[in-house]
Amino acid sequence: MAEFIILFLLFYIWHGLGTTVGYHRLLSHRSFECPKWIEYLLVLGGYLSFEGSPIWWATVHRAHHRHVDTPLDPHSPRYGLKNAHLGWLMHETYPEHINPSVQAKDLIKDPVYQFLEQNGKWHRAHALSYGLNISIRIVILLCFGWVAALASLLAAIAVLQIPLMLNVVCHIPKLGYKNFANNDDSVNVWWVALLAMGEGWHNNHHMYPGSAKTGLTKWEFDASWALISLMKKFGLAGRVNVCPQDLPERQAAPPKRRTFNLDIKIDQPLSIQKRMNFHRPLHMQRAVRIHRPLSLQRPMHIQRAVKLQSLNAPVNSKR
Ligand SMILES: [Zn+2]
Ligand SMILES: [Zn+2]
Repeated sequence: MAEFIILFLLFYIWHGLGTTVGYHRLLSHRSFECPKWIEYLLVLGGYLSFEGSPIWWATVHRAHHRHVDTPLDPHSPRYGLKNAHLGWLMHETYPEHINPSVQAKDLIKDPVYQFLEQNGKWHRAHALSYGLNISIRIVILLCFGWVAALASLLAAIAVLQIPLMLNVVCHIPKLGYKNFANNDDSVNVWWVALLAMGEGWHNNHHMYPGSAKTGLTKWEFDASWALISLMKKFGLAGRVNVCPQDLPERQAAPPKRRTFNLDIKIDQPLSIQKRMNFHRPLHMQRAVRIHRPLSLQRPMHIQRAVKLQSLNAPVNSKR
């Protein structure tokens, strides 16, 4: 039993970080750079937890940020929980407004990702992913026995739930809290952050999608950021984007809903602003004008580096 638990945790960490650091922060947002072999190692961890084609994953995720919580968002719970959880996966190919050859040009050049993409035919790409995932477990079974194979399979299935659950839970305002009064439903949810290696700080992430770091207070632990900063420390990551500043430390456990005005400029007197932010559901708040650094106004995958001053060691990337 002890062997199973240890193996399960090790596989969970690899598949989890493969998804959060590899698929999400590296491929989808280009929030940092690293050598190609590390990119493949991370992406392999995500692929072996049934995450599917990296091009597909990143393209759909970029569309989610571009159209967040509007009818064009591929999986906003505003338009139905079933669709937000699994329904959106059932399509055969991309909807008209999502096109990887336009929105993921940086990824379609890679021959490995191109092969896994299967020309944008979702059912073929999913079938390939499931086939390779099952095959690798058969290899593990034959080489290392059923304990290792079962631990690997169950860890992968558990990690698969991370983005599916996050897409729903972190876009239902009453389930979490906001650090930023942005105009979508994204919220921070501590238990999702714990299971999802830091990805549950989703309101922070929607505020700064190009940042490699999403936990912004001392207690908002971000395991994915811990790995990226460790990689930077050992010269395994080059450029690393981070948001301009951390939020002030909290005094205690987070309130259910709270807004900070750090880095946000609202063109209303403070009294109106307070009424607006604290007494209306967030998705009904009047439009606020959010001041963002110039680099964060560009498409996410080509955002200009906002360099982390404390981590400005020489770039060691050989991409
Ligand atoms: Zn989101
Ligand atoms: Zn994202």
